[in-house]
Amino acid sequence: MTLFRPGAEQIARLTRGDQPVCAFLYDLDALADQAVALRTALPPGADFFYAVKANNDPRVLAALAPHISGFEVASAGEIRRVRAAVGPEARIVMGGPARTAGDIETLLAYGVERLHLESIQAMRVADAVAGAAGTVLPVLLRVNLAGPVPGATLTMGGAATQFGIEEAAIPDAVAVLGDCLSLRFEGFHFHTVSNNRDAAGHAALCAAELALARRWARERGLDLRLVNLGGGWGVDYADPDWRFDAAAFARALAPHLDARTGIQFECGRIVAAYHGAYVCEVLDLKRTHGRAFALLRGGTHHFRLPSSWAHDHPFVILPRESWPHNWPRPEVVDEPLTLAGELCTPKDVLARDVPVGRVRIGDLAVFLMAGAYGWDISHHDFLCHAHPHRVFLSGQAPLLEPGP
Ligand SMILES: *Cc1c(COP(=O)(O)O)cnc(C)c1O
Repeated sequence: MTLFRPGAEQIARLTRGDQPVCAFLYDLDALADQAVALRTALPPGADFFYAVKANNDPRVLAALAPHISGFEVASAGEIRRVRAAVGPEARIVMGGPARTAGDIETLLAYGVERLHLESIQAMRVADAVAGAAGTVLPVLLRVNLAGPVPGATLTMGGAATQFGIEEAAIPDAVAVLGDCLSLRFEGFHFHTVSNNRDAAGHAALCAAELALARRWARERGLDLRLVNLGGGWGVDYADPDWRFDAAAFARALAPHLDARTGIQFECGRIVAAYHGAYVCEVLDLKRTHGRAFALLRGGTHHFRLPSSWAHDHPFVILPRESWPHNWPRPEVVDEPLTLAGELCTPKDVLARDVPVGRVRIGDLAVFLMAGAYGWDISHHDFLCHAHPHRVFLSGQAPLLEPGP
């Protein structure tokens, strides 16, 4: 599996020379290869969906489409995005909390194949809308496990969160669903943790979820066609070369599968993280209270992930030789450096006190693993700075977006 790490020459070719560099670069071919590698590792017959929220750019969706089973969406807007980028044939499944009647109308109008229900109210709304449309909508019930669940970076289930139907309430939910004549029960949905780096532990969690789904089906006489085991396969932002062992995960899960119940996954981060880089020019260097800071063209308004996770995002410094000014070029050498953005808030930090060799004004900071939950989760217009260039590499010809 590759890691997209653009070089100085490539960046110079892809960005405008007349303005400080600020760009997201995405390698769509490597992204497609990653999807193929992950899908190939899975047991035969398992569905591998891409969770659109990790990166919803139409070029990313189109690059992934030939290599995955389909798309997992969480809003009417994401449904329309997938249809616009990939067309009417793409398989789409929908989940997410806080459902409206309008969501369900859009789901029906755009041919979404299944809805993951997270509450009884959502079930009633979906039943009413499907009934009014004279159709029967296939559904899974999303479970919030009683816990405890293994540690990962984010926890959606096995804890007090807004997600899913709590385990103890599943019997009631199944009973209400029996009265919803415009919904058809097909199985259960679990997306319990995100960014789990422990492949064996993740397989054990999925095996326990499968066993629970089978037990409920047996006890209640349900036809269990499908179990969706969510996403959550991890990456390591502290070690960009580390990889989740998808093959070991699949091997550990294999003994728990049977021919009667289909399984599905819907991964986001592990699919899209590695093949995007965020490149920012160092505009200034300064020292306050004994600490060295680099001020970047860019920041958390483009790339909120490091501040959202309170981590130091991995980066490399690319030196650039050109210095057009007639004053001395400032530099920081062999010192811990904090990389801050251009926003007027002390929260605008992408990496803190990280040792660097040499950084000069005009060099580039290249943040790696910026393809998932990067641009898509950021508050782009806070302070109204120019947006980054976004460049999508595919084959020989980059797909360039018009500059800001
Ligand atoms: C976000 C999300 C995913 C994808 O999670 P990753 O950790 O990015 O793989 C899958 N399913 C649901 C319901 C989600 O909310």
